[in-house]
Amino acid sequence: MYLKYKSILPFISVFILAACGGGGGGGGGDGGGASNGGYGTAPINTAPTINNSSNDYSTVEGETSGFMVNASDAEGNSLTYSVSGNDGSKMTVTTSGVVSFVSAPDFEIPGDANGDNIYSFNVSVSDGNLSTAEGFTITVTNNTSDDAAPVTGQNNPNFECNKPYYLSKPDPVATDSAYSYYEYYWQSNPKLCINFRETDLLDDEWETKIPQILNYAKDNLGMIVPLNAFVVDQKNASQATLNQLDVDACNLWFIPQGASADCSNRQDPWGNRSAAAGIGFGQLPNGGDLYFFQDNWADQGDPQVPPRILMHEFYHVYQNSMKFYFEDDGRFGIPKRFENDASYGEGTLVRVFPGWLEEGGADFAGMILATKYDNNIDARKQFEAHLDEAKSVISTAASNSDTLSLKDYEYQGGLYESTANPNNGIARQFAYAYTGGAWAFVYLWSLDNANFKKIIVDYYKNYAEKDKLNPGEGWKDSFEELFGMTMSKFYEDFDAFMLQDKATIMKALKTNAQMQEASFTTGLTAALTFNVSVAANSNGSGNVYVIEGTQNKAITLEVGKTYTFTHPTGHPFKFSTTSNGTHEGGSEYTTGVTTSTAGSTVIEVTANTPTTLYYYCSIHSGMGGTITVSS
Ligand SMILES: [Zn+2]
Repeated sequence: MYLKYKSILPFISVFILAACGGGGGGGGGDGGGASNGGYGTAPINTAPTINNSSNDYSTVEGETSGFMVNASDAEGNSLTYSVSGNDGSKMTVTTSGVVSFVSAPDFEIPGDANGDNIYSFNVSVSDGNLSTAEGFTITVTNNTSDDAAPVTGQNNPNFECNKPYYLSKPDPVATDSAYSYYEYYWQSNPKLCINFRETDLLDDEWETKIPQILNYAKDNLGMIVPLNAFVVDQKNASQATLNQLDVDACNLWFIPQGASADCSNRQDPWGNRSAAAGIGFGQLPNGGDLYFFQDNWADQGDPQVPPRILMHEFYHVYQNSMKFYFEDDGRFGIPKRFENDASYGEGTLVRVFPGWLEEGGADFAGMILATKYDNNIDARKQFEAHLDEAKSVISTAASNSDTLSLKDYEYQGGLYESTANPNNGIARQFAYAYTGGAWAFVYLWSLDNANFKKIIVDYYKNYAEKDKLNPGEGWKDSFEELFGMTMSKFYEDFDAFMLQDKATIMKALKTNAQMQEASFTTGLTAALTFNVSVAANSNGSGNVYVIEGTQNKAITLEVGKTYTFTHPTGHPFKFSTTSNGTHEGGSEYTTGVTTSTAGSTVIEVTANTPTTLYYYCSIHSGMGGTITVSS
């Protein structure tokens, strides 16, 4: 509660000497003494009075209007007005006593000293000798039109697996001439879902291994989108299971649901599908997906290959989510030229990565992540097999008087096997995109040790920003800037590199130990962001924090991760081991916490962090919720 009071303040007189006679043009005047009264006893002056029937007003946010001070003076002296007190600096008063806000108040970002949207101040009225002051308040009320937009179409607030996160396409949080920018409610908790189907058909060993491998990839590369992975024995599972898998996939891909009614009918026949994974701009609200089949591990001649395949597929989700991600503001940006493509959802593939870069990059990373995950995996041997296959494609081409270049594996999807290709009908193996592509990165790494991190991390980090500057060319600009050479120079050098004898080429390859020790930090695994907004409490009075669309949401933080909470500056976000923090006599928990005035609070969660914490607003009671710290 605030205190209201009325008081009569003694007038502190200040003599201002009139510059009598000093002015020009006036003819001097008489320059005499005070003009009031003449001689004898001056009449008794009384203080002005303030006669407002109420001292408490309200104004809707966004407007400056306040109220009029209704003052009078028994002697009829002219009156002057002033404001002071707690929130006096936010108010102004005219010479006729109209009080208003200096600038229009914002309900969501209270500007009053205690942040409760009740501006309290004093108005003083003076007749020149005596003054009267009274306390007033103006309560700023909410105009709901600027309330945080509810998350449209969100239907999976508990992050359930194999279920769409959005049923309809969310509205962008910002746009510019070329992009729509999105913040998805799952961004603070992009969940890895591994959906096994008909587990009695699956090898127990792989039911254990697949989560280990995918979590290893997630923990090392980071995962900025939720991912639904599906594992099934495609050759032996029931038709009903396989049909349902197609329906599940279509529900994740098409937003709104059912946008492509025949989606599941148009999918490839079951039985010989390849492992696959990715994420497109259309399905971005529902995250990525990944498919891995019993035959992908059971039918491989080399048991060391399947982990690479799984890493490779995870890497596709990494590559293709990063290309939409603007790290600086934690938003996904989708080019309007994609969104406005009328054929979206009808199978048009917007190619953004060259084939060799996407597939070769995933194989390069897949082999290295595999040997990092399991040091018994001989990545060198796998790279060598890739080299043999790549050199075979080159020599087959040469025997047809066809000179092969990695550049041919950018976008020319039909080139490899089509008889109508621009290389005189010579068919080539698509595999060079994988094998030659992987070696393109071996070659780059051999040029400079620092290139490893650039290959795995920086290239993808820079991609969206570069593509925004130069639409469609981001893949190239990011590459040329990071590696300090033009694409044409790179293709020329790499093609020549691949024409050397095998023993010479193999010298460029790192040892297994070097690959296992090669380190990189994407920065994505460590920093997770909660966007905290504020809304009127729907279960009581005052305001509450809103996280992921839920008021006072109970959240879980994981040991080993660092979380950033962005929040309105008027509601400082704090932690305590006491519910409601200092409002209930608790103290602020500050270990590993960095608070900034710019509206973001960071907490590093360690094994020493209490298993239960509470978040609260240091100014307003009852805004927060519970945090469970899990290991
Ligand atoms: Zn691939």
